[in-house]
Amino acid sequence: MENKVPHVLLLPFPAQGHINSMINLAQLLCLAGFHVTFLNTDHNHDRLLRFTDIQSRFSPWPGFRFRTISDGLPVGHPRSADRFMELVDSLRTHMKPLFREMLISNRRELDAVTFIVADGIMMFATDVADEVGIPILTFRTISACSFWSYFCIPGLAENGELPFPDGDMNGLIKGVPGMETFLRRRDLPSFLRVKELNIPSLQFIWTETQNTTRSAGLILNTFEDLESPILSQIRSHCPNIYTVGPLHALLKSKLSNNNNSSSSSSSLWKEDNTCMTWLDSKPPKSVIYVSFGSYATVTRDEMLEFWHGLVNSQKSFLWVIRPDSITGKGEEGQIPAELEEGTRKRGFLVEWAPQVEVLAHPAVAAFLTHSGWNSTVESVFAGVPMICWPFFADQQINSRFVSEVWRDGLDMKDLSCSRETVEKLVREVMEGKREELRTSSNKIAEFARQSVGVGGSSWNNLERLIEDIRSMSFPLH
Ligand code: UDP
Repeated sequence: MENKVPHVLLLPFPAQGHINSMINLAQLLCLAGFHVTFLNTDHNHDRLLRFTDIQSRFSPWPGFRFRTISDGLPVGHPRSADRFMELVDSLRTHMKPLFREMLISNRRELDAVTFIVADGIMMFATDVADEVGIPILTFRTISACSFWSYFCIPGLAENGELPFPDGDMNGLIKGVPGMETFLRRRDLPSFLRVKELNIPSLQFIWTETQNTTRSAGLILNTFEDLESPILSQIRSHCPNIYTVGPLHALLKSKLSNNNNSSSSSSSLWKEDNTCMTWLDSKPPKSVIYVSFGSYATVTRDEMLEFWHGLVNSQKSFLWVIRPDSITGKGEEGQIPAELEEGTRKRGFLVEWAPQVEVLAHPAVAAFLTHSGWNSTVESVFAGVPMICWPFFADQQINSRFVSEVWRDGLDMKDLSCSRETVEKLVREVMEGKREELRTSSNKIAEFARQSVGVGGSSWNNLERLIEDIRSMSFPLH
């Protein structure tokens, strides 16, 4: 019995942020001596192989393997935020039976899967796991605060706060216990800004969240000191929570004891490392880093306003503009000469950056972000104050916590991204409010560092997770 090695299958939702968190967990489980299968969609696996050295990252562990599965969408499908529900539906109808078949045939193999960790928005995996008789844990890659707001959907509906009535967007929300004093209507995740309860995206988020209680526990990429009051609320419904974040930092901390392995990128875009050399040429704390993650899009007009604001602020800026991030391509025109000139002097544009390294660079002073959860915890860990321009999903509530609870950034949600606003906020974060934002950011970063260090809360929770997976893989009956 002692010699048996657990074999964990990890099933991420097929999107960049989810894959990053799950890959880090995969490597941590390899370090624990487990066998690990990482199940990627064909579409994303192709990109991962094309743009990273992921195979060599995992080469120290012969017990690790990738497997792939179809997401059911045609090759040319954009898999973009505005068609999110098409992906969700396709996973449920297409991937689910394939996943079932895969697990059933795997049962006959020598090194069969003994445990599943599935993304918390792919709860069809729980149906299959129950059917096949394999224990399962849920990994929700969003913040505890957004998870809790989703969990409270029935309470919000009872209070008449859902469907979202017309009226004052600054009115306080009462239906999310623990947030009554600061959560405004405008801070609810975008999935909750709906006019009817039967909207598929709302139904989807509610069903998935509620189903979490069916698995043996919940893994979250957060840490106790960051979200402790909210975690207490969640624990009254889901008692078994493993807070193991920030995962990228926990992995680094574990790897520092392990010389022959590294934690390189899991990017689905080609990282442009030339920006690191550009950052090397800049004075300490002089650059604003701008990135809206892997899903968010801006219109061409919004992009131009951001651009003017950045140039007019007279600060150096490093800006990630993904090739697929500008909508309304039809109106392409000349880039105004002053933007080209301002960018030559002080700017650097890339299509994809090595974000974790960028945030850790001494030249970076602030982060203009869409408030995706990975970006938020990466910024928190690096102690970099944020300007938040949330786009969708959990980002609206994350940015409220940044500005109002952790006080390590400014929230520009629902403000027009006019050049004046952008310039003003960039100046505030880098001049006017610089000291107070830096003080809070440094304080939270210190808590984050402690949590992933030996004996810290995330470190200990990972140990507990490893032991629990081991015992659930081989129950003693
Ligand atoms: N990221 C990156 N390079 C970039 C932009 C983003 O490596 O140029 C990574 C970032 O570090 C984060 C992930 O992509 O881990 C984005 O996830 P997040 O949850 O912040 O947002 P999403 O893309 O899901 O909206």
